[in-house]
Amino acid sequence: MAHNWGSSNRKSRLPANWQKIRKQVIERDVVCQICRVRIAVIADHIKPMTDDHRLEALQGLCDPCHRQKTAREGAAARAAIRKPGRRRPPEPHPGLTA
Ligand SMILES: [Zn+2]
Repeated sequence: MAHNWGSSNRKSRLPANWQKIRKQVIERDVVCQICRVRIAVIADHIKPMTDDHRLEALQGLCDPCHRQKTAREGAAARAAIRKPGRRRPPEPHPGLTA
């Protein structure tokens, strides 16, 4: 029963009533909160990577804007992860063992 979804557990963290929440968000916002031109079709977390599913923590976005936003967030997250650079324990010199 334990499914391995790989490194992405994003979907599995959504609440059971997510579809209902999503519907409420896009009915409230109607137009995309970034471009304000296209119809909102996606309920987006205003603060990325949070598990806050309250309506006030969500915004309706159109698909192109949502893609741009998540692409930026993904790039920022990747940059934050690999900040220490290469980190290798120093290897003992093979000739120095007593
Ligand atoms: Zn948009």
